[in-house]
Amino acid sequence: MIGKMPHRLTLSCLLAVLLALPLQGQQLELRFLNVGQADAVLIRESGRTALVDAGSSAVLGYLRALRIDTIDLVVASHNHADHIGGMTAVLGGTVVRYYLDNGVPHTTATYQRTIQAVSTSGAQYLRPTARTITLGSARIRILPPPTSGDQNNSSVGLLVQHGDFRALLTGDSELPELQYWLSNDSVPRVHVVKVAHHGSWNGTSAAWVEATRPQVAVISVGTGNSYGHPSPGVIQQWEGVGARVHRTDLDDASSVYWRLTRAASRAAYAAAKRS
Ligand SMILES: [Zn+2]
Ligand SMILES: [Zn+2]
Repeated sequence: MIGKMPHRLTLSCLLAVLLALPLQGQQLELRFLNVGQADAVLIRESGRTALVDAGSSAVLGYLRALRIDTIDLVVASHNHADHIGGMTAVLGGTVVRYYLDNGVPHTTATYQRTIQAVSTSGAQYLRPTARTITLGSARIRILPPPTSGDQNNSSVGLLVQHGDFRALLTGDSELPELQYWLSNDSVPRVHVVKVAHHGSWNGTSAAWVEATRPQVAVISVGTGNSYGHPSPGVIQQWEGVGARVHRTDLDDASSVYWRLTRAASRAAYAAAKRS
């Protein structure tokens, strides 16, 4: 997964480039897909594609609509059905080069089908060790989960970096895992946070908000879900540090979508959501 190295663009020519060139060559794209009460995040850069979670078979429809037939890296943050329920469809309907999960088997038939599909797909399995994976000119740093814990607190963390831009995705991590990373890893300020555990009260802590202080916080959540996600208090916490909160159930019919230039932190950060 080694793509061409980034080259610096000035802000003045960057805007023109954005107008003139196709998506993949010049910018990082993050799509938080609306897959109901589930998770799925697409990351594209320089023609390379990563998919973080596929909680619904609807993900394959999104991939087809975007004409994506090869995925360089699929990550299952953890093995709950709302994060892997669409994996067999993805593995059967696309070419997946690498598959990384949290390394913690689950007891469900959904997990058994998924891991079987991984082995028959030809994808190379990766464990969630501390490593950095290149995706075009973006880098994805894996934040390993603690060695013990339930599925949610064994979610794989991903720090997506592109130039000065950073986004942090942590699956359904709850307060113990967030605290583990704060104590044992380096958690930087970022531009975008995927709010953990669908905006549940137990997926956001004051210390986590203070460490990451994003400009944008995205909550992947289903309309009228029975869990009561997201927590109003969680939304207030993120807004309290100036983050704009986007929700996949409210902000767009299909997905919350950003295209981010590699000069993101120098005011060229152009957050745009659209269908
Ligand atoms: Zn979940
Ligand atoms: Zn979960």
